[in-house]
Amino acid sequence: MSPTNLVGLLPAELEDLTVELGASRYRGRQIATWMYRKSILEIERMTDLPKDFRAALAERARIALPELEQVIPSQDGSRKLVFRLEDGARVSAVLMPDDDRMTLCLSTQVGCGFECAFCLTGTMGLERNLTTAEIVGQLLAANALLGESRVTHMVFMGMGEPLANYHALVSAVRVFVDARLGLGYSPRRITVSTVGLVSQIERLGREDLKVNIAISLHAASDEVRSRLMPINRSWDLGALMAAVRRYPLAPRQRVFFEYVMLDGVNDGDEEARKLVRLLRDVRAKVNLIPFNDWPGTRFRRPPLSRILAFQSILLGSGITTTVRWSKGEDIGAACGQLREAVPA
Ligand code: SF4
Repeated sequence: MSPTNLVGLLPAELEDLTVELGASRYRGRQIATWMYRKSILEIERMTDLPKDFRAALAERARIALPELEQVIPSQDGSRKLVFRLEDGARVSAVLMPDDDRMTLCLSTQVGCGFECAFCLTGTMGLERNLTTAEIVGQLLAANALLGESRVTHMVFMGMGEPLANYHALVSAVRVFVDARLGLGYSPRRITVSTVGLVSQIERLGREDLKVNIAISLHAASDEVRSRLMPINRSWDLGALMAAVRRYPLAPRQRVFFEYVMLDGVNDGDEEARKLVRLLRDVRAKVNLIPFNDWPGTRFRRPPLSRILAFQSILLGSGITTTVRWSKGEDIGAACGQLREAVPA
């Protein structure tokens, strides 16, 4: 049997493993504390475990993070972390400092199968889902890189569609939010983005997780959205917004809507007014994302005046709206650009 990777196992799963090894559940809780609370990722350094138990554990299990192959700094202070996975595939995460925040953008799949027309990642197709270990490993590696400080917020907006890798995503989030033996992050500091998988949004709403959701909306009419995002032909805006309205929100929690701005496609005043109507009665925050160019794309970024005019229509209707100048544009780390150049 190949050794089990302990990274990403829930505290309860670590307890089950130590029972299998003939030890008490308490040993499992000790391992969780070492890995997730004390960031010790070597079995031999878990010094309150008996020596012979450590030896038995090391035969049965290992602690393996994805290999941090490259750290690419951007002029704006963000850093792209390129990971090489055990099968040779590459994914990245992006560290984005902002005042006292350090946000990590995480990947959940190698490639993506949803083929949004404006997205570079979508041109790759889906290669495979990441495992829970590979998702949690991105955070543990980022925290190790940061040394004394640590990631404060997480957004699942890297490569892939998080809700299409539902089980691994939810397991990773449970490790992140476990306050006693996991990493102890508040779910309010975690945002799961989705292209609009209605059944999975509803499923996520039924979990006891209370994470933020961000909807990749990108258009306010079915006609435009279906052209940009094939998923809209399976679940149209009516179905999507019904699921959003049912998503349980804590007081003051809002749903984020991502809207990539494409010149002459979805940036007109009329689209802005449709967006206002679409979001009526929803506690919404809109992030407008000026399109980031990539070679071979047919889309262009609208002029600044158009972006601001669009924003002012939303603001004038009382919708909190920010323009998000993507971080990491110069290092291929901005939204929809997370495609790894595979070295020969
Ligand atoms: S925008 Fe998101 S869902 Fe669409 S192709 Fe890109 S990564 Fe996939």
